[in-house]
Amino acid sequence: MKEITYPFINLANVKGVLIDLDNTIYDFETPHQKAILASYHFFKKIISFEEFKEKYSFILHENIKGGLPCQHSRYHIFRQIAEEKNLPYPWLMAEKVNLAFWNVFIKNMKVDKNALAFLKETKKKNIPVCLVTDLLASIQTRKLKRLGIAFYIDFMVSNDEVYCDKPDKRMFEAALKKLHLSAQDVIMIGDNPKRDILGADRMGIKSYLVTFKEGKNKFL
Ligand SMILES: [Mg+2]
Repeated sequence: MKEITYPFINLANVKGVLIDLDNTIYDFETPHQKAILASYHFFKKIISFEEFKEKYSFILHENIKGGLPCQHSRYHIFRQIAEEKNLPYPWLMAEKVNLAFWNVFIKNMKVDKNALAFLKETKKKNIPVCLVTDLLASIQTRKLKRLGIAFYIDFMVSNDEVYCDKPDKRMFEAALKKLHLSAQDVIMIGDNPKRDILGADRMGIKSYLVTFKEGKNKFL
């Protein structure tokens, strides 16, 4: 489990916080690898693990390029692999594997201690927090509950609500609307220079990039 490094974030005069979830509040890759392995279990008789991983990554990256919420769906990755391998009832198989994928993923998540310290600081200062995330609300809700941080997240904007991904400004506009705040009143925190940081910059929202490098969090 990798530790996420938060830069010093000045909360003075900040009236609202916009924050990403994956790789910003928890390390995505550790549960992701375990979920891929659990999914492979269903295909192991017909495909090697290397081929499975390659197909999974290829389809995921190709789909995400489309920028539509449904294109993040793991269900369709598993359906496509099942169809390519001529498995019977690929749609039923996809549902079963998708369920196993997310169950294993969510079971293996852990909130990052620096992220938690930051969220506690926002609560202490009565600053509302809106999650702005490029994944389905139903999945992200399960994650927030599992991470034990639902209490700190006042609102959520997900890509299936707004029909686009960050850095599209509609994601940020939806968050500002929920918080009843303007761009200059809020800050954005995320790990992705394009989706999170560029997206916020275009809106005139001050942004902070979190990293995986070694370092000490100012709030600890
Ligand atoms: Mg992220």
